[in-house]
Amino acid sequence: MALQIRNLHKSFDGQVALERIDLDVGSSEFVCLLGPSGCGKTTLLRIIAGLMAADGGSISLQGRDLAGLPARDRGFGIVFQSYSLFPHMTVADNVGYGLRIRGQGGTAITQRVNELLAMVKLQAFGQRYPGELSGGQQQRVAIARALAVNPSLLLLDEPLSALDARVRADLRRELREVQRSLGIPTLMVTHDQEEAMQMADTIVCMNQGRIEQQGAPQALYEAPRTRFVADFMGHSNLLPPAQAQRLLPQLPPLPEGLAAEQALLCLRPERVRLQPEAPAGALQAMVTDIGFLGSIQRVRARWQDIELLAEASSTLPLALGQTVPLHIAAADGRWVKA
Ligand code: ADP
Ligand code: MG
Repeated sequence: MALQIRNLHKSFDGQVALERIDLDVGSSEFVCLLGPSGCGKTTLLRIIAGLMAADGGSISLQGRDLAGLPARDRGFGIVFQSYSLFPHMTVADNVGYGLRIRGQGGTAITQRVNELLAMVKLQAFGQRYPGELSGGQQQRVAIARALAVNPSLLLLDEPLSALDARVRADLRRELREVQRSLGIPTLMVTHDQEEAMQMADTIVCMNQGRIEQQGAPQALYEAPRTRFVADFMGHSNLLPPAQAQRLLPQLPPLPEGLAAEQALLCLRPERVRLQPEAPAGALQAMVTDIGFLGSIQRVRARWQDIELLAEASSTLPLALGQTVPLHIAAADGRWVKA
C-alpha cells in the first residue's frame, strides 16, 4: 500500500467531522472519495496533505508515519477546485514553481516544464498568463504544476467541478490517462457519482464523517450494503420485504445480521425488464411515465400498488397507459440496510 490511514478522527468544536477512517491507496491506484456536501471529504484530504491536524489515528506513506511532517515536506501534488494559479506568473512559471523553490536550475526546469505542458496538451501556452486561459486550461496547468515535483501522492479536491460538462468529460479522461501513465497513487474527492464511477479503481463512499462502503465501482453499484450507497450510486427501486415477496416469489436470503424490519430489496432499473414477448406468468404492469434519454428510456411502470423504475431500449415502442409484461429474476435483487 502506498497510503495507509488507520482510525483517523477529527471533530470541530465537539462536532464529529471524521469518525474512525480506515483507508488504503495502492501504489498506482486511483481512489475516489465520494459523498454529499459536508460529509468530510475535504477535511480528510486536508489532513492527509498536512494542512490540518487530526485528533487521532495514523497516516503513513510507503510505511513511513507522516505524523508531524509539515505539508511542504510531504512531497504531495495537490489540486483544488479553484484553479489557484499565481495570476502574475506565466503558465510556464506556474508549472515550474515547485522545481524553482526546490533549487533546480534553468535548463532542467525548462525541459521538465515543456514535458509537463505537452502532457496536459498546452505546449503552445507556456508564455500566457492564467487570466488568458479558459477554466479547463487553467485546471490543466494546475494538474501539470502538481505533477512537476514527481509527487509521491496526488491529492485532488473536486478538481473538475467548476468546469462545464463537455470540458469536464475530456479532462476526466485525460487526467486518468496521465495518472495511469505515471502510476502515481491518487486520491480524488468528488460529489459526482458518475465521475467517481468513470474514473476510480476504488470508490470510498462517505456519509456524515464515516466510510459507508468501499470497493470497485461495479461492486458498489451492484452490491450496495446500505440504502445510502444504493441511492447515492444511481437509481434504484427499494422495496420492503412484504412488497418484494409479492413481486418475486423467490427472494435472495437476507444477509447475516440484517433483520427483515431493517431490510429493503434494491432493484436497479435495468434489472426490471420490460418484455413485449414475455415468458408465461410474467407480471403485467402499466406504464405511468416515460423519460426519453437517447439510447434508453427510463420508464415507470405500476404493478398492483407497486411502482417500479425500469429501463428499456429506446427502440422498444412504449406508450403511457400501455400494459407491458415485466420480468425480474430472483438474482436481480440485493438486500440493503434501510
Ligand atoms: P465536504 O468536503 O465533504 O463537503 P468538509 O470536509 O468541508 O465536507 O466538512 C465536513 C464538516 O466539517 C462540515 O460539517 C463542515 O461544516 C465542518 N468543517 C469543515 N472545516 C471546518 C473548520 N475549519 N471549522 C469548523 N468546522 C469545519
Ligand atoms: Mg469539500
